Amino acid sequence: MPDETSLTDAVSARRADLVALTRDLIRIPTLNPPGRHYHDICAFLEARLAPLGFRCELVRATGAPADSERYPRWNLVARYEGGGPGDCVHFNSHHDVVEVGHGWTMDPFGGEVRDGRVYGRGACDMKGGLAASVIAAEAFIATHPEFSGAIEISATADEESGGFGGVAYLAEQGWFSPERVQHVIIPEPLNKDRICLGHRGVWWAEVETKGRIAHGSMPFLGDSAIRHMGAVLHEIETVLYPLLATKRTKMPVVPEGARQSTLNINSVHGGEPEQDADYTGLPAPCVADRCRIVLDRRFLIEEDITEVKAEITALLERVKATRPSFEYEIRELFEVQPTMADRDAPVVRSVAASIERVLARQPDYVVSPGTYDQKHIDRIGRLKNCIAYGPGILDLAHQPDEWVGIDDMVDSAKVMALTLQDLLVVPQPGS
Ligand SMILES: [Zn+2]
Repeated sequence: MPDETSLTDAVSARRADLVALTRDLIRIPTLNPPGRHYHDICAFLEARLAPLGFRCELVRATGAPADSERYPRWNLVARYEGGGPGDCVHFNSHHDVVEVGHGWTMDPFGGEVRDGRVYGRGACDMKGGLAASVIAAEAFIATHPEFSGAIEISATADEESGGFGGVAYLAEQGWFSPERVQHVIIPEPLNKDRICLGHRGVWWAEVETKGRIAHGSMPFLGDSAIRHMGAVLHEIETVLYPLLATKRTKMPVVPEGARQSTLNINSVHGGEPEQDADYTGLPAPCVADRCRIVLDRRFLIEEDITEVKAEITALLERVKATRPSFEYEIRELFEVQPTMADRDAPVVRSVAASIERVLARQPDYVVSPGTYDQKHIDRIGRLKNCIAYGPGILDLAHQPDEWVGIDDMVDSAKVMALTLQDLLVVPQPGS
């Protein structure tokens, strides 16, 4: 059994470095949208990792959604080869952050340290996790220079907007194929004692009801698309919501409220378009000739996406049966299959054992209510041995005064380093 203490000590000794790295990453304002400073953050990480022996490749997702000359979608993949053949463990972090929003009392891109926390946009989601994986790899390589296999660290674009210019692009190019990568850890902020096995599925669709425009003083001469949509919303409220509440899952989704099928109505738009805020006139009297809603349906591993879609079609057909002039259209916008790693998958077992060693407790196994880049690694990369594990409190993501705890980062870096040791160090005979 390789010595554990020297490795965890090597992580502890890098505490100040871990804090400094997190602060440096926060100070590069990689806002998405539109996708700022992507090249800067990739070049910054390359400058750190290349001198240590990582082969670094900057990959632009040319032609991916949102990629442009002004805002190119840059990604970094850094690979360190060990002393012999073996598995490759890959840490994937997204480098983009969401908009700042209101309500901050700190500089969102200052990387301020106060009371054992580093503050800033992206501190917990997920530059703290990215920094922890870098420190874990550095401590591990220093302690076990002759390990077997390889370590990869990637910093990828656009996770916050679907990951198409990031992990999806890399997966399509073969970077996550099972032939070159065997274990993936995504250091999203799921808390240092939890292993996130996967996420629920997603289906987004726009539903439009049709009508006929007429003068608002004689609505009987037209046909109101808004009234038709009212009937749709009534059916959703009285039939679909109660039905969804009965669909429970064995997936350990957190929070508990998401352990069932859910539906959000993202928006409703009908009739005359809204005018600019500086328009001082009145609206015109018209019967609405169209009305649209956008549905965000989250589904379970027990559900089939074709049934999820059929449920909405059936609902619209029921409404149609009671309203003679009812016409509708469905436009599908986006879909993601649910994914969940097996609890006995090698990376799950290894991280679980490392959590027990560092924190002296069993991990909790969770599933995310929303999706993240695991979807692309699973579907495009065909790699099931993938989890999310990283420091930070998920609830703080995208909030004002976002922060990550320094002790949490150190502990999770120890877990990551011990996982590398477990997966990449072959015990010597007699030791
Ligand atoms: Zn994230």
